[in-house]
Amino acid sequence: MPRSGCVRSACMAFPHRGTVSAQRIANVRLFMHRKAHLPSKICPVCQRPFAWRKKWARVWDEVRYCSERCRRHAAAMRDMDRHR
Ligand SMILES: [Zn+2]
Repeated sequence: MPRSGCVRSACMAFPHRGTVSAQRIANVRLFMHRKAHLPSKICPVCQRPFAWRKKWARVWDEVRYCSERCRRHAAAMRDMDRHR
């Protein structure tokens, strides 16, 4: 019977190392995800801060209001000003 002590220890070592680094990467990802600071703005209508959303990725510079409701509210206010 051939001795497979070395082979066995290598087999033990590699998956172990693999899990440790995988865990470390997962931790870093979690950390980065938690630390990820999304840009935010304050809605001029309701005065509440709102955070960046994926649907605003392309128009973030143009986004001014937290919601469609606030946007309409602001538009209504503008119309009232205009008609005065
Ligand atoms: Zn708002």
